[in-house]
Amino acid sequence: MVSNEQIKNSLKTKQEENPEGYLICDNCNSYYKLLPEESPEDFDLECSCGGEMKFSQSLETSNQEKSNDEKWIRIFFIICAILIILGIVGFTLNYFYSLNYAT
Ligand SMILES: [Zn+2]
Repeated sequence: MVSNEQIKNSLKTKQEENPEGYLICDNCNSYYKLLPEESPEDFDLECSCGGEMKFSQSLETSNQEKSNDEKWIRIFFIICAILIILGIVGFTLNYFYSLNYAT
């Protein structure tokens, strides 16, 4: 399920990992790379676009949140599929039960 593009992207973000962390805007996704002598508390955490800057150890966080969303969507579909299967099985059992009952 992981495409080559995603692997390339994760390798790229690994290389860009900064031990001091980043401030990432939750609105426009622009980021500021913290320098060793800087800490997130030193900054006005409001982006020029009006969004909120959030501290993150790496640039991967936004990607992780995205794949987390995909995970929940997948779980939702799996639950739906299970309910549909249970419905079909229940209906089928009910049908055969009524057949047996009739004979
Ligand atoms: Zn912004």
